Amino acid sequence: MSTDLPIAIVGGGLAAGTAVTALRDQGYAGPLVVFAAESHLPYERPPLSKGFLMGKDPAEKALVHDATWYREHDVDVRTGVLVTALDPDAHTLQAGGEEIAYRALLLATGAEPRRLALADRAGVSTTYLRTLDDSTALKEELRASRRIGIIGGGWIGLEVAAAAREAGAEVIVLEMAAQPLLGVLGEEVAQIFADLHRTHGVDLRTGVQVESIERTDSGTARIGLANKDAVEVDHLVVGVGVVPATELAEAAGIVVGNGIRTDAHLCTSAPDVYAAGDVANADHPVLGRAVRVEHWDTAIKHGKVAAANLLGGAEVADALPYFFTDQYDLGMEYVGNAGPDGFDRVEIVGDVPGLNFRVWWLRREELDGEERERVVAGMHVNDWDAIDEIRAKVGTLSPTS
Ligand SMILES: Cc1cc2nc3c(=O)[nH]c(=O)nc-3n(C[C@H](O)[C@H](O)[C@H](O)COP(=O)(O)OP(=O)(O)OC[C@H]3O[C@@H](n4cnc5c(N)ncnc54)[C@H](O)[C@@H]3O)c2cc1C
Repeated sequence: MSTDLPIAIVGGGLAAGTAVTALRDQGYAGPLVVFAAESHLPYERPPLSKGFLMGKDPAEKALVHDATWYREHDVDVRTGVLVTALDPDAHTLQAGGEEIAYRALLLATGAEPRRLALADRAGVSTTYLRTLDDSTALKEELRASRRIGIIGGGWIGLEVAAAAREAGAEVIVLEMAAQPLLGVLGEEVAQIFADLHRTHGVDLRTGVQVESIERTDSGTARIGLANKDAVEVDHLVVGVGVVPATELAEAAGIVVGNGIRTDAHLCTSAPDVYAAGDVANADHPVLGRAVRVEHWDTAIKHGKVAAANLLGGAEVADALPYFFTDQYDLGMEYVGNAGPDGFDRVEIVGDVPGLNFRVWWLRREELDGEERERVVAGMHVNDWDAIDEIRAKVGTLSPTS
């Protein structure tokens, strides 16, 4: 493959932005083109449900780099341009009515919010929060005397709830499970998050099933629940998860399965095509299985590994998943991934009411006939010196206590 051809990157998120930076940092001076479907330069999404949504931070703060950086580093960023097809054998892609030949390609197409047909059919005022434009529009909805209904008590739903309460809006969260974040955190820690939101005035309803959504004559959304309760809100936020954006890869014959499948080097099944970030379901050498991680830190780590390998390297994406959130006065960092085997026990150490503690998720394992406990994940809340210890402990085995 000619080295005069560009390295091409599809996607305008953090994985794409990080890969571009790493390619130039690692000394690649050749042609580099980024196709970004959104009209913005590559940016980070965490502020969209936090600082930017709350009006504390400007949009520019979310950018990976400003326009000057791309100009100075000779990166051709084509915003508002969707890549519509790939031919991995021919090493070409179609974008903006042009056929572009590439030497190597990174797919960093991310993920898209899962739609809720009931809400779409009802035509009520709804946000699926994913983009800067979504967050800009949602910001207008969050103000005193507005009632905001949030379907889904996951990370996005809860962060929006916190931002909406800070803006003085009334907030109702409808969560199907018995507690918010139950699957990831388990009962004890999920309860801490439930209490936090209730203390801040959120009407958090758990174990509820949305059965109907109607637009009322006054334009509000009337949500009917399976238990026959109904709530009426001015604006709806749907946060029921995301689906990886795999259409382009799939149509090109690249192997997909819960995302674009890659090996630990982020190589896809197609020659010279890599995948990174939310869209990549990558073999994880430490966890011993494929994982697709929808977190900020993975987009960064993958972007760097993909850049090295686009240049002929053989780096492995072996970082343990890391996640953070900020809600009211709770800041937390979480490392690990309990995976399908889950955990048997949770240990909470510190001051829970004072919101300063560490949590360990432990799984029993038998080794040489002896029962041991493996730390499968760790987290701290507002204990900002804890992260090194957490990173060191996750994955380790100790005698059962
Ligand atoms: C509101 C919000 C808050 C979050 N908060 C946190 C947090 O606190 N902590 C945390 O760890 N994670 C958080 N995340 C998750 C984190 O933002 C994602 O993991 C990260 O954005 C993934 O980056 P990515 O580059 O893989 O994909 P994305 O950010 O999804 O970017 C993919 C981009 O590719 C573009 N694209 C797709 N297909 C094409 C195509 N065919 N042609 C051209 N362009 C295309 C898309 O338009 C999109 O802009 C949050 C996410 C959201 C939405």
